[in-house]
Amino acid sequence: MPRPWIPLPDAQKGGEENPPNLPQNNKEKPKMAKMYYEKDCDINNLQGKKIAIIGYGSQGHAHAMNLKDSGQDVAVGLRPGSKSIPKAEAAGLKVMSVEEAAKWADIVMILVNDEVAADVYKKSIAPNLEAGNAVAFAHGFNIRYQQIVPRPDIDVFMAAPKGPGHTVRSQFVAGKGVPCLVAVEQNATGKALDIALAYIAGIGGARAGVMETTMYEETETDLFGEQCVLCGGVVDLMRCGFEVLVEAGYQPENAYFECIHEMKLIVDLINKGGVAAMNYSISDTAEYGEYVSGPRVLDPETVKANMRAVLKDIQNGTFAGRWIAENKNGRTFFNSMRHNLSKHPMEIVGKELREKMLWKNDQDLDNASK
Ligand code: NAD
Ligand code: MG
Repeated sequence: MPRPWIPLPDAQKGGEENPPNLPQNNKEKPKMAKMYYEKDCDINNLQGKKIAIIGYGSQGHAHAMNLKDSGQDVAVGLRPGSKSIPKAEAAGLKVMSVEEAAKWADIVMILVNDEVAADVYKKSIAPNLEAGNAVAFAHGFNIRYQQIVPRPDIDVFMAAPKGPGHTVRSQFVAGKGVPCLVAVEQNATGKALDIALAYIAGIGGARAGVMETTMYEETETDLFGEQCVLCGGVVDLMRCGFEVLVEAGYQPENAYFECIHEMKLIVDLINKGGVAAMNYSISDTAEYGEYVSGPRVLDPETVKANMRAVLKDIQNGTFAGRWIAENKNGRTFFNSMRHNLSKHPMEIVGKELREKMLWKNDQDLDNASK
């Protein structure tokens, strides 16, 4: 089907020039997920340890404030002149340069954007680490694709909340927590898992539950989910539905309501009680249509074959290589896609409608880094 707003194939070239050859995943996959709860996560394992949080965006502000409120010795590492300095200071946090914070700390949690983390690590963090220190992440991309390769005498772990930073903070303040993933990629001290679990207790995640994984598994499943289902899949599905109705002569406002606005209402029901709860709420006509037309629109054989191809590109490093090259080449493809999306009628109509509607002041969006 032609996609008028996507400037293929020219723009795609941007990211495809010399994608680096990145490692395949030959690691054995864990068979059953191991779970940890509050009783397994002893925050005392952080005793005497200084924690640097590098970056003060969505995750950074939440980790830093939660750890401080949990009684830990925390400093935030920021660039000179960063807009976040006054915010972190106002929250009562120590602020240092990234270099100073890395030198000062025993545990360095890297919460800058994934695309810049490797540079920040090489320039400002690695030279300031001592044997037995730990570097930590909330996502495995840079470790999985070996953009960051910490020296062997350093612990490397992941403490990854399965939710945006603002929720990590608001749940903590409410006495609750966001479930987390834990992974140990390098265990120089022999205590990396205990330290990681203690860290997760400090940010409130242990109150909700912690699932053990590897940074390989987390990265690959995360990329797959966002590309095939959550972002790539959902956006393309809604866009195609919107375009088909508009091309058939229906009002764009109506197409927006049917194919885009209602998505949230449906997903909320599934989130609450599974597909059955959603089916219970919708009409039997809608449920019958789901069974009859769902597989017709998304032919399972074709869709799964396409998804497997995407998964293969994730596993063999092709996707990561392109994304890294895209960043090095000035993001020409990425920026043109973003620009074209802003011109798509579904975005323009949606904006107009939302401005007129009650939900226009909805604060659901995560505005952490704004
Ligand atoms: P963000 O964009 O909200 O914040 C990044 C911060 O890093 C910003 O404050 C930015 O100013 C700062 N920064 C950028 N370059 C820097 C530099 N050179 N030196 C110092 N600071 C710099 O990012 P985020 O969403 O909080 O993501 C941080 C990490 O958490 C990533 O690894 C991400 O994958 C992971 N993560 C994010 C979420 C989420 O929902 N946002 C969820 C789980 C994990
Ligand atoms: Mg994600």
